[in-house]
Amino acid sequence: MASVSLRNICKSYGDIPITRGIDLEIEDGEFVVFVGPSGCGKSTLLRLIAGLEDITRGDLLIDGQRVNDKPPMERSVGMVFQSYALYPHMSVAQNMAFGLTLAKVGKAEIRRKVEEVSRILQLDALLERKPKDLSGGQRQRVAIGRTLVREPKVFLFDEPLSNLDAALRVQMRIEISRLHQRLQATMIYVTHDQVEAMTMADKIVVLNAGRIAQVGPPLELYHYPCDRFVAGFIGSPQMNFLPVRALRASAATVEVELPGGSSLCLPVDGSAVQAGDPLTLGIRPEHFVDAAQADFAFHGEIAVAERLGDHNLLYLSLEGVESLVNLRSDANGRVAVGQVYAAGLMANKCHLFRADGQACARHYREPALHG
Ligand code: ADP
Ligand code: MG
Repeated sequence: MASVSLRNICKSYGDIPITRGIDLEIEDGEFVVFVGPSGCGKSTLLRLIAGLEDITRGDLLIDGQRVNDKPPMERSVGMVFQSYALYPHMSVAQNMAFGLTLAKVGKAEIRRKVEEVSRILQLDALLERKPKDLSGGQRQRVAIGRTLVREPKVFLFDEPLSNLDAALRVQMRIEISRLHQRLQATMIYVTHDQVEAMTMADKIVVLNAGRIAQVGPPLELYHYPCDRFVAGFIGSPQMNFLPVRALRASAATVEVELPGGSSLCLPVDGSAVQAGDPLTLGIRPEHFVDAAQADFAFHGEIAVAERLGDHNLLYLSLEGVESLVNLRSDANGRVAVGQVYAAGLMANKCHLFRADGQACARHYREPALHG
């Protein structure tokens, strides 16, 4: 097992910078998830750690040793790709053994490792099958097994579940989490899937255009996003953003003018805010409450109502707000398109962003994090 340190890691293709000064400490045994929009450099970063690409500038350390110049085989990293490309003419056992055969490991040793790993991955009954006779999830497990037999210190996963259907994704997600608990190995996992990131990670790294936007435990990013980008990226459905204006600001609170003209006082740090500043109010769909218990209620017309069985998702059109406001409501409420709906806001659940996108730090201490 191993720690991984990235010190000012930069990668350019020609003169186009892709990865711009990444500093990150990954601890021994940690499960770290990289998320970010397509093209932000997630795969590039993983390939730099694996040694499949040269690092343009900066230092990469595995277990305290600088490995920039070491070939992939000498880094003790194992990578599982999105397209797992098993050899079709080889059995499951042969596919899993292939890397070890190349590395000239003895036959008895190979058999022992393949048996052990196939037990962990519940592939022991399938060892003689060819890939074409396996389900998607079983193939994915063989791809993981192929990496596992090599006993890497660090596992790298690049969107390994994105080719699977929804039900299988959930099942494999749980299997990989359990595998991590059992092996206690360092794992770095790339995904663009919200739920995978939230549920699997000890620590999420949100990437934006080759830079780290924020690093932290999933709930910290969910409750205290440092900027509008992270706020919009973490959480599903996405946070609503409404244009507001600062009326008064101090280190303790910011009073804003809401669309429609009412004012609301938010417990956030307004040290960098001046009266008159245009700001963005952020509110998650799941944080709207019953209007009777709220600090403030918006009244809007229901434009779309999605009934999902256990809850409803409503899309309200509000005066003075361009985009529809999305909120989660009780499944038992009677809702119809065209009906006027009162959406209650709690000031301590609101987020506030300055014009440059930076968040005004929330003072409210979330029970889920602070007990
Ligand atoms: P992600 O995995 O986050 O979707 P990638 O790391 O694959 O993103 O790519 C990041 C950026 O680097 C993209 O703009 C992509 O076009 C560019 N890129 C990736 N590989 C190369 C390459 N070999 N040559 C030039 N540009 C590349
Ligand atoms: Mg990618």
